[in-house]
Amino acid sequence: MTWIEFTETIRTVCTYYERKIPNDNALELWHERVKTIPRESLDWIKRKIFEENDTFPKNLPTVMWSLYNAWLTAHPEKRAFREEAQCPECEGGWLVLQKQVDGYRQPISFSAPCGKCRQIPSAHYMTLFQAIEQGYERIELKKYPEAGPRDIKKLAESVGMKMPDYARRVA
Ligand SMILES: [Zn+2]
Repeated sequence: MTWIEFTETIRTVCTYYERKIPNDNALELWHERVKTIPRESLDWIKRKIFEENDTFPKNLPTVMWSLYNAWLTAHPEKRAFREEAQCPECEGGWLVLQKQVDGYRQPISFSAPCGKCRQIPSAHYMTLFQAIEQGYERIELKKYPEAGPRDIKKLAESVGMKMPDYARRVA
């Protein structure tokens, strides 16, 4: 949100609770904390502040962040829309990975819902960092548009082996 959008929001909240608007120094510190909250969530956040607080919230930036997270939960499609194009770590919400394993000529493939953007609804996520820690490397599908990832479980079954469920384990 811009500075103007931020101060408008604070002005409204202060008016609602009949409270003095904080001085510019305080406002700047607050804005620093909440400026990455997107504008489109602000009306919803304001409404929730009014619904859930009988008095002016003690720590308004913290309240705004927790309401923003609630907004994301209430509007999962916004989460996908916002982050799909931006997530630098995955392919549309999926980590597409491979790992060199002893006894296999080809590296094994694996995918997991991306724990950075969490745009795929899932109970368990894996971040690229966790994947690399576990010895995987990323396959950037955009570089190989014709190549789909092989399914690690099918591959494992084809050699009579059961692979651990990493997505579950790292959650
Ligand atoms: Zn991602």
